[in-house]
Amino acid sequence: STLTQVVDDKTGTLNEGRPAVTAIFPAAGGSEAEVLLWAASLESGSEHPLAAAVLAAQQQDGRPLPVLEDFTAIPGRGVRAQQGKVGYLLGNDHFFAEQGLVLPGELVTEATQQAAQGGTPVWLGRDLEVLGLLILKDPVRRDSAAAIAALQRLGIEVVMCTGDNRATALAVAREVGIGTVHSEILPEEKLAVIAALQQQGHKVGMVGDGVNDAPALAQADTGFALGSGTDVAIENADITLTGDSLQLVA
Ligand code: ADP
Ligand code: MG
Repeated sequence: STLTQVVDDKTGTLNEGRPAVTAIFPAAGGSEAEVLLWAASLESGSEHPLAAAVLAAQQQDGRPLPVLEDFTAIPGRGVRAQQGKVGYLLGNDHFFAEQGLVLPGELVTEATQQAAQGGTPVWLGRDLEVLGLLILKDPVRRDSAAAIAALQRLGIEVVMCTGDNRATALAVAREVGIGTVHSEILPEEKLAVIAALQQQGHKVGMVGDGVNDAPALAQADTGFALGSGTDVAIENADITLTGDSLQLVA
């Protein structure tokens, strides 16, 4: 019973898992430093892989972070917090639409261009006002394309599953040679993608690293966790991948 499909997480799996802030676009009248400051303050309450990158970028600036309270993380969306009666939020376009914020057209243009090159747009808002846009970029692993080509030569179809935005996911998929992309999905939907393939009679492998991949790793016929990944991903997988090449450690 060999695998016929392999589902790949993107962030931390096909990518290096080392995102960095590559651009900041303040809304009209704002400054880059101000956008970075409030973004870092919000991310100080988050364990998301994007959070460390925002905090690292702000540390170079050195200004002390404003103190926020009532941190809430919304899976697949972003984070919010309060400073007294003022609400701050950071996350993707779905999150902002759900909260009733209107994204300024000139920033949407920048976000679209950056996503087409594999960048992840992250929006900053205060109450109903958009303060700016940050772009985070995670380099694609050097060996991702070769690993995918090797699987495809074995007759295995490779599929991408990611919570990241559609345009970003498609840019990375094109770079590594993946044709089928499920983007903007929540962790339980990753599991559903695998279950649906199994229903069709496929033997499904899943490769992932994150807390959000754990349910899918458990559902897969064979779950492969990255050795660099989170403990819960490793615990839910059958096999841990370590080293630079794809060595298998059962
Ligand atoms: P994945 O690891 O597959 O990309 P996640 O569900 O962790 O999926 O994240 C999906 C999206 O939600 C991210 O691409 C980002 O747009 C947004 N998001 C979630 N948490 C945060 C956060 N702390 N800071 C910024 N964006 C976030
Ligand atoms: Mg991941």
